[in-house]
Amino acid sequence: MRNTLIALIGFIPLVSGAQDFDAVEIKTTKLSDSIYMLEGSGGNIGVCIGEDGTFIVDDQFAPLTKKITVAIGKLTPKPVQFVVNTHWHFDHTDGNENFGKAGAFIVSHENSRERMANDQLIALFGREMKAYPQEALPKITFRKSMSFHYNGETINIFHVGRAHTDGDAIVHFVESNVLHMGDVFVRYVFPFIDEPNGGNVNGLIRTLDKAADLADGETQIIPGHGPLSTKQDLLDFRQMLTKIRDRVKVKVREGKTLEEIIASDPTRGYKATGSVTKDAFVKIVYDSLKKPK
Ligand SMILES: [Zn+2]
Repeated sequence: MRNTLIALIGFIPLVSGAQDFDAVEIKTTKLSDSIYMLEGSGGNIGVCIGEDGTFIVDDQFAPLTKKITVAIGKLTPKPVQFVVNTHWHFDHTDGNENFGKAGAFIVSHENSRERMANDQLIALFGREMKAYPQEALPKITFRKSMSFHYNGETINIFHVGRAHTDGDAIVHFVESNVLHMGDVFVRYVFPFIDEPNGGNVNGLIRTLDKAADLADGETQIIPGHGPLSTKQDLLDFRQMLTKIRDRVKVKVREGKTLEEIIASDPTRGYKATGSVTKDAFVKIVYDSLKKPK
């Protein structure tokens, strides 16, 4: 009995934690007359409402679709017409099937669609993702960028390159001056970069640079996880990443092994607050730098 319990506890996936979806409440924050942020469990959701219909960014877990739909229903009577996935990780996309069946068009980077259409393994957390059924797959994909002209808002969606995964989409609501970053920007330390599935620390930093170029002191930034943020928060996050990346890079150039680099403590000054340990993060950075881009 005791062994079973321990085995079960060990099996709880770290990314999502033990999930009691009944206990989850959806918190709504107004960012402008047309843009809202919803927090529940999983990736933060961006919502754009208006005359044309409802457009959302990410859709968390399937058991939360009802609660998310109720929260959106308090903002607008119009149904969700478009769901943009910032990437293919389950805590951002598991609601796709429900929204797809209800008639929404799912949109993503082409690499994310490819991943959702096939079985995946998120190795660091030992988490398998089975291929999604047809209704959950994006009907619309893009390669570099695309734009929506919707609800009086110019919505630019772009992909800079390998970052958190190989299929990240950043969503810029131009008139409202809001950015949704997906997991390219999160508020916990150290960030998870899905390096075995195409993520890369250099690309992540480049994507942050592009976002910083689009932002000013007034920009409201929705991170993949954590509270609503500012450009300064994003720049602080970038600074942490570059500092650690540069420390690892020097050691790689000196020909040090991963073990030697971990022993040199390149994350000094920062403390892990999420489920990625400092050693796991150093390995991610090391693997990113060792692989050709
Ligand atoms: Zn993710």
